[in-house]
Amino acid sequence: AAEEGFDLDEVAGDLAAAGHGPLPVLAVVGRPNVGKSTLVNRIIGRREAVVEDRPGVTRDRVTYEADWNGRRFKVVDTGGWEQDVLGIDASVAAQAEFAIEAADAVVFVVDAKVGSTDTDEAVVKLLRRAGKPVVLCANKVDGPSGEADAAMLWNLGLGEPYPVSSLHGRGTGDLLDAVLEALPEAPMQSFGNSVGGPRRVALIGRPNVGKSSLLNKVAGEERVVVNEMAGTTRDPVDELIELGGKTWKFVDTAGIRRRVHLQEGADYYASLRTAAALEKAEVAVVLIDAGESLAEQDTRIISLAVEAGRALVIAYNKWDVLDEERRYYLEREIEKDLVQIQWAPRVNVSARTGRHMEKLVPAIETALAGWETRVPTGRLNAFLGELVAAHPHPIRGGKQPRILFGTQAGTKPPRFVLFASGFLEAGYRRFIERRLREEFGFEGTPIQVSVRVRE
Ligand code: GDP
Ligand code: GDP
Repeated sequence: AAEEGFDLDEVAGDLAAAGHGPLPVLAVVGRPNVGKSTLVNRIIGRREAVVEDRPGVTRDRVTYEADWNGRRFKVVDTGGWEQDVLGIDASVAAQAEFAIEAADAVVFVVDAKVGSTDTDEAVVKLLRRAGKPVVLCANKVDGPSGEADAAMLWNLGLGEPYPVSSLHGRGTGDLLDAVLEALPEAPMQSFGNSVGGPRRVALIGRPNVGKSSLLNKVAGEERVVVNEMAGTTRDPVDELIELGGKTWKFVDTAGIRRRVHLQEGADYYASLRTAAALEKAEVAVVLIDAGESLAEQDTRIISLAVEAGRALVIAYNKWDVLDEERRYYLEREIEKDLVQIQWAPRVNVSARTGRHMEKLVPAIETALAGWETRVPTGRLNAFLGELVAAHPHPIRGGKQPRILFGTQAGTKPPRFVLFASGFLEAGYRRFIERRLREEFGFEGTPIQVSVRVRE
């Protein structure tokens, strides 16, 4: 909710941007200490983002927006992997795997001073099999004398090694030009690309809440495996599942079914998975274990879905373990715990007994409908006019800011821009948001309201 000057060009820009799908995704992978974080910082033009001493397992922010020559894309930071948690080979392989599944293009960073190692060569194999575009960064070429080291990396068979000094910025322009050439205009698996295809569902939640059990239950024998990446021999990513007479695409199911237990590393791994699944999905079904109290990890996953702007359904699983009394208290607990997302439809299911499985699809459909709702400008302004007349903004310092008019700048999720004659207090903005929901529904979707102030 940025307060900015009133500027029609900007509004036009907003409206145009709203029509765009999500941005293509670039992953930066490589062994520890080759300079990934330094390079990511160069690309995003920021210092604070990646250089951070905390171990990767506690980080959940993994993607950053970048811009080169006017083209925007996302950069995935895999630099946080801790070698002592996962072991170097496992951590680097996991990065590559993530890149293969979630990214549209990959920058593979090698330390040119060291030359290629066995680990590097193993990653090359993984990357090559995936068939995603790869740009090879020969890093730590700080001056002309390092060019020969860079040339040695032709032997990796990934094409031209770009000599780069991430530390000093040398060669990063050429590297980024190559990256832009490799990146598709829109992400391969974005919802922008598959109008009319099956709706994409991300089934997410912390380990052991029952994601794979639920997937098995709803899929039954109907499961169709989709392999969207030609020429790969690895696990499937997305599955088509018939439900309620329709076909749905459950994204990133390889991540759901694979049993990875990497001790502390698992948290970070799960975080990457969740981010990757959300990236591809239109609607998130967040599974919560009804047998346990809501954990911080549950709330974090819900926040990730809301921040990603996806439609949201909450599914309390393992409802079968509750007795009558516990059910009563849990209902009260949930009302309190999930007060911030009261708008999300909730189903209480059991993957074990099949309880209320039939309620899942209607909940998903409700959420998607809310997510796509468009309010005509006339109706919106009639509503705003009445609302503002009945509940004007409190007078502050002798002035009374007024909402002049509003428009819906986009859908998926709904985004509104309100034009006001002065700064609107947070409380008043929340009030408007609440009334928007009361009036127009938006069940199952986050909404965004921003305010522009005319000076
Ligand atoms: P990561 O583990 O792959 O993310 O690597 P970092 O970005 O943390 O870098 C590891 C070390 O290499 C740091 O000390 C960096 O300052 C250094 N480094 C990174 N890029 C360059 C470079 O282009 N030239 C030189 N000389 N050192 C670099
Ligand atoms: P995931 O890690 O989220 O994929 O969770 P799993 O599907 O592997 O389930 C974790 C554990 O919970 C397994 O032992 C399941 O049998 C159990 N479980 C899953 N769903 C239910 C349920 O609805 N009721 C009960 N009682 N147990 C369940």
